Amino acid sequence: MKVAIIGLPHSGKSTVFVTVTGTSFDPYAAPEIRQAVVKVPDARLSHLQSLYNPKKVVHATIEFMDVPGCSLDDVSGQEQWRRLLPDVRQADLLLVVVRDFENASVPMFRNRIDGRADLDVVWEELIFADLDAVTTRVDRLEKALKRPTKTHDQEKRELAVLLRCHEALEANKPLSTVLSNIDDRRLVASFAFLTEKPFVSVRNVSDDNLHAADAWNVEYLSDQVALSAAIEAEIAALEEEDRQAFLDELDLKDPARDRLIRVCYQACGLVSFLTVGSDEVRAWTISKGASAVEAAGKIHTDFAKGFIRAETVAYDDLVAHTDFKGAKAAGKVRKEGKTYCVADGDILNILSSA
Ligand code: GDP
Repeated sequence: MKVAIIGLPHSGKSTVFVTVTGTSFDPYAAPEIRQAVVKVPDARLSHLQSLYNPKKVVHATIEFMDVPGCSLDDVSGQEQWRRLLPDVRQADLLLVVVRDFENASVPMFRNRIDGRADLDVVWEELIFADLDAVTTRVDRLEKALKRPTKTHDQEKRELAVLLRCHEALEANKPLSTVLSNIDDRRLVASFAFLTEKPFVSVRNVSDDNLHAADAWNVEYLSDQVALSAAIEAEIAALEEEDRQAFLDELDLKDPARDRLIRVCYQACGLVSFLTVGSDEVRAWTISKGASAVEAAGKIHTDFAKGFIRAETVAYDDLVAHTDFKGAKAAGKVRKEGKTYCVADGDILNILSSA
């Protein structure tokens, strides 16, 4: 899964990218896209590690991409944004950072500090980019349909879907609201529409507003997180043993970094199932609602082909009964078939003829 961090210049995108990915910050680096893979924090893995003492522990991962901010108020900024669009379209989720912090040394966008208004500015650009793609294609299809071709039926179907998309975008609605049908989604998948993707905001607040920032009521957001990127950067730079004291001082439960990664994972409709053993304890990524045979296929395609059953225990049940043996004695280990809908935190042992 790939997350694109987008937003206006100086909103704190690079600071968020650096703290989330643990990469170093180079203020003189050329303004180009940077990418890094991040482990999804999962406290369950540390506990399972203490139970199984495995040779290795493998986390689920997400890829983050830092997209340079473009000043959308001038032509060169808009051109730069259009050049970056094909890369942004590759992402599965858009994470927009908006500035709500005071810092006299950081230039302001439109001479104001108003994260909520900036969020709308970025959103309008996404709507505009999708509208542009839809309008161009609709024009082409309408022309094509005037000529006799063998593909009229297909073109008519696509046109009908795109006209609905057009209507939604004109009404400022995300395409995720009209592309609920899988066939429609497939028909227009190649456009990789921006407003079809989950859209999460990071409100980058001043440190004195960390606890006061209330949630925004924004229809087009899938989820939102408020944090101070500057404080997150400080937390990330601290040695592990000094972190807790710093968090306590700020009255914070945990670094927002971990919460942010988990929010992205969930907003993408992803869950983790777990496998355990003396070789490896591992978290695997699957879509919410995926079946046991799909989970088996994640581990190995042969496991899916030869699937017999999945021995399953929920992580919480395993912990409640100390270990696998305890959970089994308590009747918490189930035998599930191919169509079983895997839940987040299920520990699976796939039995396969392969
Ligand atoms: P980008 O242009 O969106 O990538 O923004 P940067 O991450 O480069 O941040 C722009 C400037 O704002 C840098 O000088 C940061 O140190 C500063 N900055 C970022 N986040 C915060 C914050 O939460 N509080 C304060 N006071 N400054 C910040």
